[in-house]
Amino acid sequence: MKTIIKNAKVITMNEARTIHEHGYVIIEDGVFTAIEHGEPAEEAAKGANVVNADKKWLMPGLINTHGHTGMSLFRGVSDDLPLSKWLAEHIWPLEQKLDQKAVEAARLLSMVEMIESGTTTFLEMYHLHLDDFAAAVEEAGMRATLMRSVIGLCSKEEQEEKLAESLGFARRWHKQANGRIQTMLAPHAPYTCPPDYIERIVEAARQEGLPVHMHLAETRKEIHDYMDEYGMHPVELLQERDLLSGTEWLFAHGVHMHEQHYELLGAHQAAVSHNPKSNLKLGSGIAQVASMQKHGIVVSLGTDSVASNNALDLFEEMRTAVLLQRGINEQADIVTTWEGLNMATSNGAKALRFANLGTIEVGQQADFIMLNPEQAHLHPSSQAVSHLVFAAKGSDVTDVYVQGAPLMKDKQLLTLDKERILKEANEQLRRLQQ
Ligand SMILES: [Zn+2]
Repeated sequence: MKTIIKNAKVITMNEARTIHEHGYVIIEDGVFTAIEHGEPAEEAAKGANVVNADKKWLMPGLINTHGHTGMSLFRGVSDDLPLSKWLAEHIWPLEQKLDQKAVEAARLLSMVEMIESGTTTFLEMYHLHLDDFAAAVEEAGMRATLMRSVIGLCSKEEQEEKLAESLGFARRWHKQANGRIQTMLAPHAPYTCPPDYIERIVEAARQEGLPVHMHLAETRKEIHDYMDEYGMHPVELLQERDLLSGTEWLFAHGVHMHEQHYELLGAHQAAVSHNPKSNLKLGSGIAQVASMQKHGIVVSLGTDSVASNNALDLFEEMRTAVLLQRGINEQADIVTTWEGLNMATSNGAKALRFANLGTIEVGQQADFIMLNPEQAHLHPSSQAVSHLVFAAKGSDVTDVYVQGAPLMKDKQLLTLDKERILKEANEQLRRLQQ
């Protein structure tokens, strides 16, 4: 199957930062086979499905590298608390009530929101009903990294059971759905998983060749408590136990760390998912993205769950990330406009270890989005890259493709029933709160 999208402004995000003001892309078997300036030759268009983009902007799909879509019914349930109280008093009690139907409703709602705002790939770290979700992701046509996360504040037997469950899921779904689904192992956090358990999980991940995802240094309180208990920062403990080397790490947050910690993560090719809005909403702090970049850490973007955000719009996340670093460092180029776009696209692919993803180039997976530029906040239209970072909104996205297949066309979702999903999400939350 061959598709041609013509008459588009193509923002390739390649090394040379090529932008075709009037260009086209050719997709065959889910992969880009040509990206060119001008109009496709008649010969190339023969037998192809030709789509006229009508001057829309075409760019790589956005990649959300940290989240918990299973919690999406909790959007806005508690707005003014720090992480520890927010979790213990509101989120964990509600989670006790979550059942298969509620989690399914939450996740379908999230997929609608992500596709509508231009996210093509996302990470889900959660403990409930992952097999159902993997099947739903496959059906919806999205790309995802999924993991059954574990909390180790329990007996050794229970820890082993949870790990076995995680491993079973990871093995069943890794590289499934035509390569669109990958898996990781995921100890929830150093404060919820004792060091021996993290070590056990990392060993299993090394054996299976799977990356590991974990919350890290999200709040100052968590680090204080950890220092009291173990006498060192969690990054130092990971290093002392030799858990950083030989492991493909993706950490979420990394807010409360010192220069030497960023240096250690960089030296071990770790990636960090930066979640600026969630960190701000919970009053957790601001991660030192500039320090991460200086030490060679791959910095990608995440939203965390909508309970601490409240949106899954990566355009907002990208803008917040860039502006925050400039403000706290009092330096306008500390994180450049291009670096902001990279965080939301190619760095996301690197962080999730998806090969051939995150740019519009020949041989890359054809995951891309189109935006309607005919709006006042995107004009004059000559500075598209600046507008994408500083002015664009998720609602500007009109078309979404993953592996060359359309998930949304002219704002119409093709694989999900939005009306039914919104209704169901409300009904399920009402049921939980009864
Ligand atoms: Zn999280």
